[in-house]
Amino acid sequence: MSHSASIKEPTRHVPLFVVFDLDRTLIDTNAFVEVIWRALPKLGMPGRDIEALKEEELSRRGEQFDLISEIAERVSKSHSKEQLAALLVEAAESWTIVYGEVAGLLGDLKQYDVPMAIMTYGGELSQQIKLQILAEDLKDEHLMPPVLIVDHNEKAKWIDQNATIAREGGRIVPFELSGGDTIIADKIVIIDDKQPNLDVDADDIEGILIDNQSSSHEYGIKIGELTISQLLRHGVS
Ligand SMILES: [Mg+2]
Repeated sequence: MSHSASIKEPTRHVPLFVVFDLDRTLIDTNAFVEVIWRALPKLGMPGRDIEALKEEELSRRGEQFDLISEIAERVSKSHSKEQLAALLVEAAESWTIVYGEVAGLLGDLKQYDVPMAIMTYGGELSQQIKLQILAEDLKDEHLMPPVLIVDHNEKAKWIDQNATIAREGGRIVPFELSGGDTIIADKIVIIDDKQPNLDVDADDIEGILIDNQSSSHEYGIKIGELTISQLLRHGVS
């Protein structure tokens, strides 16, 4: 499986490239936040401070509020960021943070040779911890896609602007998403739980809206309902 990193891979032209969102698409972010609240007493944070932080987190949900950085700041006298990260990853072990069907879906994509990436918005430390939890859950390290942490939410528009059109047709996948490989994709599909993140005026960039929370299909489908054949159909033009 392994190949020398010094040999430049040739250009791959593929029908489909898949970009996953992380929070509330691949992982249950609410469950992760619950893990944090339960772990905080172990860091010696007084109950009163935890309650205040809970209120702040609730009121600022959806904003760029980096909960982990707030915690890191408050416990910095007793714990380094690395210690905090290790404690949270360990605390998450007995919880179901990653949606159950994710490993199967990524495995199917890998089997069909569909290149993919994760594009996620949020504070660096928070996202790193969640990505570490995902990587451990996947067990097979080859299933973990390249990751791009961004400071904006306009994923489809970003891809439209950064994936230049190849001379032969198709889009050159930005290196940040391709893991450094040269990949030309006829279609890029973004899988995200927020419609505005998917909005773009381009025929070769499509979105699939995920709604893992609600029981209706009003807003989107659950990640577990997304099948490999449904994804592969996007690559057929
Ligand atoms: Mg999300």
